[in-house]
Amino acid sequence: MPFKALGLAPYLVDAIADQNYKKPYPIQEKAIPFILKRKDILGIAQTGSGKTAAYVLPVLMNLKGKTKTKNRHINVLVLVPTRELAIQVEEVFRSFGKSLPYPFKSFAVFGGASINPQMKSLQNVNVLVATPGRLLELSESNALHFSELSMLILDEADKMLNLGFKKEMDQIFALLPPSRQNLLFSATLSPDVQKVEGVLLKEPTIIKIEDAVDNISLINQVGYFVTPDRKGPLLRHLIQANNWQQVLIFTSTVYQADLVADKLFKNGISARAIHRKKSQGNRKESLKSFKSGELRVLVATDLLSRGIDIEFLPHVINYELPRSPKDFIHRIGRTGRAENPGDAITFVTDDDKHHFRVIQKKMKRWVTMVDSENLEF
Ligand code: AMP
Repeated sequence: MPFKALGLAPYLVDAIADQNYKKPYPIQEKAIPFILKRKDILGIAQTGSGKTAAYVLPVLMNLKGKTKTKNRHINVLVLVPTRELAIQVEEVFRSFGKSLPYPFKSFAVFGGASINPQMKSLQNVNVLVATPGRLLELSESNALHFSELSMLILDEADKMLNLGFKKEMDQIFALLPPSRQNLLFSATLSPDVQKVEGVLLKEPTIIKIEDAVDNISLINQVGYFVTPDRKGPLLRHLIQANNWQQVLIFTSTVYQADLVADKLFKNGISARAIHRKKSQGNRKESLKSFKSGELRVLVATDLLSRGIDIEFLPHVINYELPRSPKDFIHRIGRTGRAENPGDAITFVTDDDKHHFRVIQKKMKRWVTMVDSENLEF
């Protein structure tokens, strides 16, 4: 089914063609017609499924005739768990918003950055993408008003609840006008998400996209048995011998992320670490130079395993295994996205062997293993 059959306006269909989207992803095909009809939606979908455009496009259309806001009143609120996702989602709104034949402004607010410039930019905003804590701070300072709000979107609701935002979310819901359209997206339908769903959604259309495992078939996975002391040399060998130019590496701790990035840097491979201890400015800068191809290696903790979309990322390396198989799937899901194949490499020590078997069982894929002892580097 082509995009134009979903009921989207021609200017949006043109904007989609400019983004080189050839046909709708399943979540888009299923969700867009219902969102246009102003139904509430519960979307169970992972990052990488195309869920952002699935709500951005119809929300922009539903805004027609409503974009003249009083000062500091917003029309649409999108709540997200992290600043990176806030920035990313706002960029999608902005890029499609350019094509609208009516005035439109989107803006992102998040903690960890100073509040004053954010406050000043809240004039005439139609779509606000926000992390919960910062949104409440802005509302308490009277910098924001909700009486003209007609749509609420919760993106990665499960992650928001995991990060302990439940109380803030409830406080926010209480501030919003009761008559509105609600869209809730989550990778899983955990009991906590179900509770929020019960309070928030009215007769929702439920859309479930099981793409995480499907996506995996696009990924060439290889595991290396390796001793802890040979991980660093093996990492450098893989990057240099294969001449990989854009590599995302996952570690399980902030300390290890810094260590791996430092060691690569000292060996002449441009690398930076990204994790919760880095400032917002530093994280933004690292992501930007990694996305543009300037920075060769980004070493991340699981902060980045969800929500962040890096187009055509060719190589992901699990320097250490995550505890949860779901996190493993999210991590390797940074590659093999948007219908592009990619490589995912996993380092497995003796201590990891049992856990890696559990992960493989969960993802329903057996990974080819190589014994790095037989490799010369
Ligand atoms: P998301 O799940 O929203 O993070 O989107 C994942 C990636 O898929 C992003 O890079 C989008 O630009 C891309 N994308 C979304 N919809 C489509 C589509 N219909 N065709 C091709 N790429 C798409």
